[in-house]
Amino acid sequence: MKFTSIKGTKDILPGESHRWQYVEQTIRTVMHTFNYREIRTPAFEETALFARGIGELTDIVGKQMYTFQDRGGTSLTLKPEMTASVIRAYIQHNLGEQQPLVKLYYCAPMFRQERPQAGRLRQFHQFGAEAIGGQVASIDAETIALSLEIYRKLGIKPITLKINSVGCEVCRPPYKEKFKKYLQHVYNKLSEESKQRFDQNPLRILDSKDATDQTLTQNAPLMKDHLCKECDRHFAQLQSHLTTLQIPFIVDGRIVRGLDYYTKTAYEIISSELGSQDALAGGGRYDLLVEELGGKSTPAVGFAAGIERLLMVMEKQKVKTNNELMPLLYIASADDRGKHWALEQAMQLRRAGISCEVDLLNRSLKAQMRDADRQKALYVIVVGESELAQKKISLKEMSSGTERSISLNDLMTELEKIHTGI
Ligand code: AMP
Repeated sequence: MKFTSIKGTKDILPGESHRWQYVEQTIRTVMHTFNYREIRTPAFEETALFARGIGELTDIVGKQMYTFQDRGGTSLTLKPEMTASVIRAYIQHNLGEQQPLVKLYYCAPMFRQERPQAGRLRQFHQFGAEAIGGQVASIDAETIALSLEIYRKLGIKPITLKINSVGCEVCRPPYKEKFKKYLQHVYNKLSEESKQRFDQNPLRILDSKDATDQTLTQNAPLMKDHLCKECDRHFAQLQSHLTTLQIPFIVDGRIVRGLDYYTKTAYEIISSELGSQDALAGGGRYDLLVEELGGKSTPAVGFAAGIERLLMVMEKQKVKTNNELMPLLYIASADDRGKHWALEQAMQLRRAGISCEVDLLNRSLKAQMRDADRQKALYVIVVGESELAQKKISLKEMSSGTERSISLNDLMTELEKIHTGI
């Protein structure tokens, strides 16, 4: 029987895993420079955490979660996003007691049963950050700067930052009524999806992809023009901080998150290279979520960004990553004595941190040389009785084909020199 990977999932093969390592390493380095610390949470959680945490009305909870019952009858869900898990851990381990502002990051697989297409998978990877414990707009600005810094460091451009404010529990309810009133007379012309959203989650109608919905909402009142004093001040401060940080942005009143625990800042980072799934990252403030999940009322802000989409952009823009790691040395053996020596010497070199390969398939010398080529080893030596008797070997650089004779005793030192020079 032949098995293949599940639709919407992807194997990351050796030929591409070095690019993932490079991206992940860059993410970790930048996160560290902003003093965010890593959190890792389990792949699955109680279903209720997401049903509450993400909001029972979202598409994720409605149709996309991988939910199953374990043998004990508990309903579990593979995590479709990270914020709810992070907040669960924050509350469970009292992280807020150790310091007032807790800055966490992650890099992990997420699971959503979406219709697979380019840039949309069922197991995909996100990196993201959450800053929990502060309300001031400079924290929002810092998370935005952090995400953009990762893209800058990786060398991708151009990307667009769109920001908005979705208000708070004071100014949003009256605005929602105003918005619904505006839409009431065109209700019948709205798409089916928007009709469903009208009662439960009307703000999401603003980011509908349906062309008629877009025309119908063209002149609709926007939340950003109906903010209370406090939200208005916060939004102005965010813009001022972004300007200070020389981060260009567009204010877009259609960026919405639509759920009640989202407050104030909402943003999206978009790449024109991505086609219809153009969002690289989305983020915002969620001052009411910690309390909703059973913790003390604690403001928080964060973002989540897709790694597959980031890699797609990097590929399109031919962004350079590190090279695939190849063995520094291939030890080919001319005879049995050479084979023994190769095995033992390889162990010593590996212990010294030098990557090397030997023949493990008892191949002819010619076949070993072909293998060295295929493995893209940087250097090759051939060892047999005569080399061992003379204590001399020829170190061949594969790229140039140049050879130089060195003493066997000097091999380790020579390779260490080359290794540190790479
Ligand atoms: P969200 O959690 O839906 O706000 O998504 C945040 C980011 O994760 C998006 O901007 C995408 O880059 C990425 N993302 C979300 N869903 C998927 C998916 N199904 N496949 C690949 N990437 C995704």
